[in-house]
Amino acid sequence: MYLTVSDVDVRYSGNATPAVKGVSLQLKAGQIGVLIGPSGCGKTSLLRAIAGLEPVSAGSVQLSDRVVSHPGSTAPPEKRRMGMVFQDYALFPHLTVAGNIAFGLHGQVSSDKAKRIAEVLHLVGLEGVQDRFPHELSGGQQQRVALARALAPNPELLLLDEPFSNLDVDLRERLALEIRQILKAANATALFVTHDQMEAFAIGDVIGVIEEGHLHQWDDAYHLYHRPASRFVAEFIGHGVFIEGIRSLNQGHIQVQTVLGDLIDTDLVANQTGEGAQACDVLLRADDIVHDDAALVKAEILRKAFRGSEFLYTLRLQSGETVMAHVPSHHDHTVGEWIGIRAEVDHVVTFDRQSSA
Ligand code: ADP
Repeated sequence: MYLTVSDVDVRYSGNATPAVKGVSLQLKAGQIGVLIGPSGCGKTSLLRAIAGLEPVSAGSVQLSDRVVSHPGSTAPPEKRRMGMVFQDYALFPHLTVAGNIAFGLHGQVSSDKAKRIAEVLHLVGLEGVQDRFPHELSGGQQQRVALARALAPNPELLLLDEPFSNLDVDLRERLALEIRQILKAANATALFVTHDQMEAFAIGDVIGVIEEGHLHQWDDAYHLYHRPASRFVAEFIGHGVFIEGIRSLNQGHIQVQTVLGDLIDTDLVANQTGEGAQACDVLLRADDIVHDDAALVKAEILRKAFRGSEFLYTLRLQSGETVMAHVPSHHDHTVGEWIGIRAEVDHVVTFDRQSSA
């Protein structure tokens, strides 16, 4: 493992609870990890602890086989061979692009520096801008220079904290994919912080969902979406809604009775195999609900939003529960109309019924 974070707490003096609580995660060489979660959940605190900018109050941070942080001992950032790119990417305005990138290459002879500068500029797709000043570049280009500067000394680990937050939405999406390609081409191991799901999915090999300092799940995008480990992950990733169900085992498969009929999961999920029938909440996402005029179950259209190739309908079932459905946009029904729906759920995700207060 390249990066091993074990049971880490980060606590700021004066705060009643730690900003980061018992977080463990690992990154292999060449892997890109992403930390995602609502504002204030502790993403930056964790990243800063990994960088050596904050001490850990419990647990440890290990780079390859070297422990770089444990309570009472914090190797400084410059001893960690890490590159960092922060949201205020802070290029030196009075230095050229080459001057900015050379900043991390002190100690090298100038012909080596020039070669490395050309290499990393090629890597980020900005050949030939060595002599320009930051203000002569667009925001996206400046951010790529910041990335080139961080990559130039060949860091063991690259840390990126919301590097696109100052850029506009269109650019962010494009840059997210580009950055993934750049990091992969550089064979960099990287940990990236964002609050944007699309960015997390575009960039990460493995994604961690954090809430109030607690890491709920550290997994690939597919599993976060289809096998969320907690209700929080289910709601945070892909905006799921829940309806009531009764869960039981049927010949080794999980079967859930709902007002939309019986849902059966053909995979067995160990942590969801309780004995006997149990009240539960079933996760339903918009792509689990299919519009079907022949279906026996009817639902009333409460709202609809045009999404180009499809509408996103918000539907009320006869039970009063609400579900969402993606429906091809040539099916243009009106709000208030009742339409037939069917559930087509491959991965049946349930949680024990949350008692309502
Ligand atoms: P995120 O990056 O997910 O937005 P942060 O790691 O910045 O979250 O913050 C996590 C929690 O720690 C918040 O409650 C924040 O107020 C608190 N916090 C962050 N930095 C400090 C600090 N330097 N001193 C005290 N509390 C802090």
